[in-house]
Amino acid sequence: MHVLILTACLAADPSACADRLLPAAESPDMGACEALAGEAAAAWLAAHPDLTGRDRRCAPLSEAPALELSEVAAGVHVYRGADAQLSPENGGRIANLGVILGRDRVAVIDPGGSRAQGEALYAAIRRLSDKPIGPVVLTHMHPDHIAGAEVFAEAGAEIVADARLPEALELRRDTWAESIPAQIGADAWAGTVLIGPTRTIAGPEVLDLGGRTLELTPAPRAHTDSDLTVRDSATGALFTGDLLFRGLTPVVDGSLKGWLDWLAQPHGGAPVIPGHGPVAASFAEASAAQQSYLAALREAVRAALDAGQGLSSAVPAVAGAMGPLAGGWADYQATTARNAAAAYAEMEWD
Ligand SMILES: [Zn+2]
Repeated sequence: MHVLILTACLAADPSACADRLLPAAESPDMGACEALAGEAAAAWLAAHPDLTGRDRRCAPLSEAPALELSEVAAGVHVYRGADAQLSPENGGRIANLGVILGRDRVAVIDPGGSRAQGEALYAAIRRLSDKPIGPVVLTHMHPDHIAGAEVFAEAGAEIVADARLPEALELRRDTWAESIPAQIGADAWAGTVLIGPTRTIAGPEVLDLGGRTLELTPAPRAHTDSDLTVRDSATGALFTGDLLFRGLTPVVDGSLKGWLDWLAQPHGGAPVIPGHGPVAASFAEASAAQQSYLAALREAVRAALDAGQGLSSAVPAVAGAMGPLAGGWADYQATTARNAAAAYAEMEWD
């Protein structure tokens, strides 16, 4: 297989250039790729006016950078994100991503935190399979999970998400497009366009990959207001998106109450692939530490409210009360302070 690699530079800074992989020109051989290259590059640049093209070439797939995936169950491959918040060191590659190989097509669970990561995921998939790619499932709105989606849309994949996701993304897209390059570096973000789904679901749905199905289950407001889980029928593997965090401190961006309610329901799954942190053998193993953290957060916020504390004194009081649980969590202090404020606002009117 051959792919088109376009060297693109920021229009605002022509010295900042990066190689972009354009799936539209994917071809069985060099000649076929070259026949498509001119038109594919021109169309892509027209859709990305902040970039200019400097050079392009068709190359064997083996020359494209690829993510390292590990097979956690038969035909279920996972990229393990860095257990940290966004930084220049990790380039935004902090979320766990999944690839599920069906007989007829290949599903993706979260396409990654930037255009570059989406391309590297695409290249990793193409080393495993030449079957059509799709559905690409977005587990929720957060950009560390979904910013690579455009790569797969260009490859012809259907992008599926919860019906609440488009509006949530619309409200935040401009803020994220400005803040994330500042957090991970403009070159790590170059060429990224935050797109939403091509199709949404408003309730549970089963998608057939050939020989195995994926069960998509939207969750009530919890980590965010657009969470869903994906279960693979062939292996029982459960992708929870950020409904489960391990290692990286959980972020409350939806409803603390809703999240604790969701955790109290039976979910099963083996293995369980959280949105962040190591793959677990069972739901109980995957969720125990997060359940303790969120329950303690609720208790500490309730205590602050019962004591009549205002927000500005409640946040440090909650962070102090949560201190003993810090072991094993990355980015604990900063995230816990933000969670305290979010939980306070939610519980203030209970
Ligand atoms: Zn998230």
